This record gives sequence, structure tokens and C-alpha cells, in this order.
Amino acid sequence: MNYKALAERLLPGEYPELSYYETLYPPRDLEKGAEVTRLAPSPTGFIHLGNLFAAIANERIAHQSGGILYLRIEDTDLKRKVDGAVEAVKNALRYFDIKFDEGAEIGGDETYAPWYQRQRAEIYRAFVKHLIEEGRAYPCFCTEEELSALREEQTAKKEITGYYGKYAKCRNLTEEEIYKNLDEGKPFVIRLKSMGNPENKHKFHDEIKGDITVIENDQDVVILKSDGIPTYHFAHAIDDHFMRTTLVIRGEEWLASLPIHIELFETLGFERPRYGHNCSLMKQDGSSRRKLSKRKDPELSLEFYRKEGYFARAVKVYMLTLLNSNFEEWYRKNPEAPLESFKFSAGKMSKSGTLFDLDKLNDISKDELSKLSAEEMFDFLKTWADEYDTDAQKGYFADREKMLKVLTLCMGIGGKKRRKDFTTASQAMKFIQFFFERTPQEDEYRVDGATKRAVLTAFLKTFDPADDGQTWFAKVKEAAAANGFAPEMKDYKANPEAYKGSVADVAEILRIATTGRANTPDLCTIQQILGEKETRARLEAQL
Ligand code: GLU
Repeated sequence: MNYKALAERLLPGEYPELSYYETLYPPRDLEKGAEVTRLAPSPTGFIHLGNLFAAIANERIAHQSGGILYLRIEDTDLKRKVDGAVEAVKNALRYFDIKFDEGAEIGGDETYAPWYQRQRAEIYRAFVKHLIEEGRAYPCFCTEEELSALREEQTAKKEITGYYGKYAKCRNLTEEEIYKNLDEGKPFVIRLKSMGNPENKHKFHDEIKGDITVIENDQDVVILKSDGIPTYHFAHAIDDHFMRTTLVIRGEEWLASLPIHIELFETLGFERPRYGHNCSLMKQDGSSRRKLSKRKDPELSLEFYRKEGYFARAVKVYMLTLLNSNFEEWYRKNPEAPLESFKFSAGKMSKSGTLFDLDKLNDISKDELSKLSAEEMFDFLKTWADEYDTDAQKGYFADREKMLKVLTLCMGIGGKKRRKDFTTASQAMKFIQFFFERTPQEDEYRVDGATKRAVLTAFLKTFDPADDGQTWFAKVKEAAAANGFAPEMKDYKANPEAYKGSVADVAEILRIATTGRANTPDLCTIQQILGEKETRARLEAQL
């Protein structure tokens, strides 16, 4: 077979010498040990926790070694492409402070651009043409129908499905048959002529899983589709080589493709990057564990965290806790240190399923938010509200001084102990809503209407927002005494039958009347923030 002539027929025209690309994309000028890593999502519009998980690992490994993290968009499959997806990826990762050094819509050093695979079609075709010339790739004219019939046949025989060995029909076409098909204008794809034998097993060092066994590939995978665009497998091998990638952390769902990737790198004569396949995120579902699912678990999507207003650092802390077994202890000892000073290691990543627990993340979120100053919390909430809240809620930030007072109180700033009432921005905005508008009553009074009215009337007679906490409380006690409640807790405890309740019950009546809730931060301060007019109006409304 004259492979050179066939290559010219299949991919006509001048292509640069392959060595040209080696010069065009030279090895990077980096210190020894500097890792070049990447994130290579498809623009499907769905960016998930697994992407963030891998992004954090790749980012840490790149940057702590003085290397590079880049963003490549794997858009070879047009069917899966969604408008705005690249922006979505970029925004989602920016929210979590993942800093790319270069890449699609990022810019940076242009040496290794473009970062969209569709813009690199010429490079891939040059290599495909070369493989045809070498007799390592061939045209396949099988139709969709033939391929699905093949799959059915293989499934029925309980054999491995795919295009390989005796099933790779077009692999053995004669020169004549090939040209006849071409003359008839039959569409074709280009397949790799695999030389592997799955009975051969090799040891493979995975940066996360350690030494694993990989069988040789024997699938004649498609490398160039009928539209002249390569498949992901082929494009990613070319790109990882010419973008001078040294290490890839990616999801373990790609382990199954590893034999193909190994053969592609060998066939192309490229040195392979090192791979680490991280385990999937699992969720406890009753007594069993399952993978997080797009359909069932909203928390799989990164959009969820932004919509709910999770504090990015908290999510990152939790991700690092899951990513590296020694992070939690390090963080306990270094709570103030920048997260970047933790020495991340692929070898300390979990080898089998990692349990993702939203409750645990919520606890971490409470801790992280309780470390903020009122001003930092103001900025965090405002940024979130500007994007996600109603106009009314955005309006809460107009009176900066009032909002700072609210946050200082609700976060327990200046008090004996910091409060941990806030989990996310959306939850915090709901929590502080009653300071800005009258909200529906959430908790029920535990006294009858007459008692409630009597207590409120008594308190209203003496209420003065200028009172300090002590004077305020003395007045609550007066209202208690005047209505059959014990003003002192110890008196009530000693003789509960003698009273309707204690001063605590009176405070609760006032609390519900003021805020609609039985549990709030300090009520005296709340009433001061609300001001005399609003406080009186709320209490009077309950009469
Ligand atoms: N484009 C693949 C994806 O969507 C990337 C796989 C890889 O990292 O090699 O996840």
C-alpha cells in the first residue's frame, strides 16, 4: 500500500513538517521541578464539584512548584457545546479563587495558544496525516448503522464492544477498496491502527493511586472525525504535549481511557505527562454510598454554591480537607496562615471514594464566616446580594451604618464569644431580614393573648431606647413582676407554682413581638437598632 499517496488523498495539501511544531511550542523555560498542569473542560455548561476538586489539586501542584496552570477548552464535540459555557467555567473558578496563568479567555503568555481545540485543527491534521503516511492510521467507512449492529452483535456474544481486532473491518481494506469508497464519495473517519494486545499488562505509576496495572489498548479508536475535527483522545494527547504539560490530575472516570492515551502518546513519540486519577466524590444515601449525581444532588453543581452564597474560602477549606489527609490537622494548627502555605501533595489524596458531606461544609462555613470583621461580612453579603437578591434586599445595604451594627450584633463581635449563626450569604440575608422589614412570625407565643397584651403594655409604658442593657433588663423585670412572672430566675426555680413563669418567658414575649422569633441575639440592642418608632410600632401591632 502506498501510504503516502493515501495520506495525500485523505488530507490533501501542504502541512508543516512535524518538527515545526516542536519549535513553535518549545519546552517551557521553567525551574527544574516546576509542574505544568491544566484544566481541560468541555464547554458543556455544567461545571461541577469534581472539576473544582481537580482544579484545586492542579492549581496547588502547579503554583507551589513554581509552575503553570492553564485552561484549555476541549470543544471537539460540537453537540455538547453550550453558549456561554466558557464564561461559566471562568466565573465559577474565579469565585473559588483558582488563578490560571494562561488559557482560553484568560490570556497570558501566548506561546502555547490557541487554547480552544477547534482553533488547533491544523496541528491535529498534520499529525493524523503523518500517522497515515506511517501506516499507523487508516480510513474507516463504516456507517452508524453498521457500528450499532456491531455493538449489538458483540453485546449478544458478551464480548467487549468496540472497533478492534477481527471486528475492525476497515483496517484490512485493500488499496482498491479504499479508493473505490473514496471515489464514491463515502464519508470516512480516521482510526488509529492499534498495535496493542490486552493480554499484555503493564505496571503504571499513578500519582494518586500509586502503582496500578494497565492493560494494553487494542481499540482502533477514531482520531479524526468525518468533519475533520479530531476526537478528544487524540487532541488532548497533542495538546498536552505541545502545551508542555507535565502532570495531569483528573477524575478517575478517565482511567478507562488511559490505555488509549498511553498508546497514543507512544505512537506519536511524545513523552507522557504524569497522571493522577482522583476518586469520585461520594454521598451517604441512607446506609449506602453512591456517587454524587447531577440529577439528584444540586450540590454537585458549582452554580449551587454561588447561588446559595457559600463563602469561597470555606468551600476551599473543605475541599482541601477532602483532598489531602493531613490538611485538617495542619489547618487546626495554622488557622491564620494563608491556605497556599499548606504543602499539598498528590500522594496524600484519597485512593478510593471520598465522602462529600454538606453538613460538614456548613460547619466549616460557620467557622470561616465567624472569623470575618463586620466590614468584611458587609462586603461579602453585598457582593452576593448585588447578584442574587431582590431589590428590596439589595436596599438593606443603603444604610451602611445600620447594616454594620446589625452584623456586629449578629456575629457577636465585641461580645464574650463570636456567634456562628451565618452559614451562607442567602441564609444570613434571611437571618437579618427582620431588622429591615417586618417578617412573618416564625415562632408561637407560649402564653395566652391576654397575658401577652398585658406584658407588652407594661413594657411599652417604660420603654426608652436610650436605656443601657442593665436598665432595659430592669424594666423587663418590672413588667414581669407586674404580671405574675418571677423577676428573678432563682425565685422561680425555688417555687415555680407561685408564678406564671419567669423573666425569661417575659423576654421571649418581647422577642417574638419585636422579631417574630423566639431566638435572636441581644434583644435590647435589636430594639436600639430598630429605633423607638419601629420598636413601638411592632409591639403595638401585637396588642
Ligand atoms: N475534556 C475532558 C473533560 O471534559 C478532560 C479530560 C482530561 O482531563 O484529560 O473532563
